[in-house]
Amino acid sequence: MMAYETNGQIIIVDAGIMFPQNDMLGIDYIIPDFDYLTKRADRVLGIIITHGHEDHIGAVHHVIAEIPVPIYATPLTRGLIEGKLLRNNAQHKAQIITIQAGETSKIGPFTIEYFHVNHSIPDAVGLGITTPAGLVVHMSDFKFDHTPVDGWPTDFAKLAEFSTRGVDLLLSDSTNAERPGWTPSEMVIGPAFDRVFAEAKGRVIVATFASLISRVQQVADAAVKNKRKMAFAGPSMIDNVKIARSMKYLNIPDEVIVPIEQALNMQDHKVVLMCTGSQGEPSSIVGRLSAGTNRQFDLKPGDTVVLSSHPIPGNEESISKTINRLLRRGAEVIHDGIAPVHVSGHAAQEEQKLLLNLVRPKHFMPIHGELRQLKRHADLAQQVGIEEANIVVVENGQVVELAGNQLMLGERIPGDYVFVDGESIGDIDHDVMRERSQLARNGIMLIDISLDKMTGRLLHEPEVLTRGFVSPEDAEALLPEVRKRVMDVVNGGGLDNEKEIIGAVKSYLHQETKRRPIVLVTLSKG
Ligand SMILES: [Zn+2]
Ligand SMILES: [Zn+2]
Repeated sequence: MMAYETNGQIIIVDAGIMFPQNDMLGIDYIIPDFDYLTKRADRVLGIIITHGHEDHIGAVHHVIAEIPVPIYATPLTRGLIEGKLLRNNAQHKAQIITIQAGETSKIGPFTIEYFHVNHSIPDAVGLGITTPAGLVVHMSDFKFDHTPVDGWPTDFAKLAEFSTRGVDLLLSDSTNAERPGWTPSEMVIGPAFDRVFAEAKGRVIVATFASLISRVQQVADAAVKNKRKMAFAGPSMIDNVKIARSMKYLNIPDEVIVPIEQALNMQDHKVVLMCTGSQGEPSSIVGRLSAGTNRQFDLKPGDTVVLSSHPIPGNEESISKTINRLLRRGAEVIHDGIAPVHVSGHAAQEEQKLLLNLVRPKHFMPIHGELRQLKRHADLAQQVGIEEANIVVVENGQVVELAGNQLMLGERIPGDYVFVDGESIGDIDHDVMRERSQLARNGIMLIDISLDKMTGRLLHEPEVLTRGFVSPEDAEALLPEVRKRVMDVVNGGGLDNEKEIIGAVKSYLHQETKRRPIVLVTLSKG
C-alpha cells in the first residue's frame, strides 16, 4: 500500500496483504498499518488499484471499512475486488469506478494517467501521477514481455512520452532485482505444458495461485490441444475463473470445462484439474491431497501434479515437504526446478534498466521487495546514471517528500504489520507473536502454589507440570531443584511475588538446559 499526499489531500495506491512467514504462528494474513490514513479519512479521495493480485487488493475490504472512498480499477481488477468484497460481506460498502488503460482521472489535485503493463494477470496498469510537485511514474508489478498470453505488451510509447515531458520521480517493482538478464516470456510455458499433458498417463492436476489468470489460460490452451477436459477445484479458483471468463479475459471454450464431479468420473487421461496450493499451504487442495485429507477427491497412482509457481521466499521448506508427500502417495510431480512450468511475472535486471533508461527520471525510489532487493535496484539505477543523491531506499512507514525539485526523507509514521487472525484484526501484536514462537520452540512450565491464607506459608510442595519443554524424565530430574527455588523465594519473604519466582526458575532452567520455556505461576490461598 502506498499513499500520495499533496496540499493535505491524499490518494491511496493498492491495499494488499502479505502472507505470514514460518515464524508467524497462527496468523492468517498481514495487512498494512493504515492508521495514519484512518486519522485523515476525510482528506482521502480514493483508492487506485494497479492489478488484481492479493498483495495489491487483499486488504481493500479492511481499508474501506475505515475509509469509505471510491475505488478505481480496470474491469478485471474490479471483478476480482467485487468477488473478494462479496466473500467478506462488504459489497455494499464499496463504490468502484471502472477505469481503462489509456484513460485519465482527475482526483482532487492529482491527475492520473493509466497505462497498460504486462504482468502475470491481465488488465494491469501503471500510473502517471501529475501533482503540484511534479510528475511521478508509479510502476507497480510489471515485466516487459513482447509475447504475453493476452497479446498486449507494456505501453512503451507512453513511458517514452512521460520521459519527454520530464519525470520527477520513478517508483518501480524491485521483486526480481537480484536476477540478471530478462524474465522469459510467458510464451515458453506453452510447450512445457504441452509435453506434460501429452506424456501424462493419468490425470493432470495443476496447482497455482487463484489470481494467476494468465496461467489458467495457458493450462486451458494445453487442455484443448491435448483433448483433455478441464475442471476447477477450490472456491477462490472457481470464483476468479468465473469472473475472468464472463469478462472475456479468459478464452476457454464452454465444452472444455466440466464440473469437478463429472471430471472425477471420466477416464483419467482425459482430465485436467486446476486448483490452489502451489506453495504447499496445508489448508490448500494440494496440501490436503499430499496429506490424504482432501474430501472431494484423493490422489491416485498415475496422477501428475504440476506446481506452477515459484516458491515465495520462506516457503521452500514446506513446498519440499509437500512434494515428498505427493511422491510418497504415488503421484508424479513437476515443478519449475525440472521443467519450465512457471515464469516470473516480474521484471529482471535488464528490464529494470530498460525502464530506467526509457523514463529517465530525475529521482528514483525502488518499491516492492525486501530491503535487499530495494538496495540492489538502487545500485542498478546508479549504473544507468541516476545520481546516488537522487535515489532513496526506504522501508514501510518512511515518508518521502518531493518538493522544489528535491527528494527528501520526511517523518516516520507507524508502518508495521497488522496481523489478522480469524476475526481479530490487530489484537495480535509482536509480543503475542514472540510468546507463540517461544512456546513453539521451548515449551511451557506451569507451577501451582497453594499458600495458607493466614501465615503465607506453603500448604504443600509446589506442583510442577511441563509440556513441550524436555522429556518427562529430564523434567523429573529438574523438579527437585525447581521446587526448592520456588520455596526459597516464598519462604524468603518474596510472598506473592510471581515475577521473582518466575525469574528464579527461568534462570535455573536456562543454566541447566540452555532453553527458555514460558514459565507460568498459578497461586491460590486456602
Ligand atoms: Zn502482482
Ligand atoms: Zn505485487
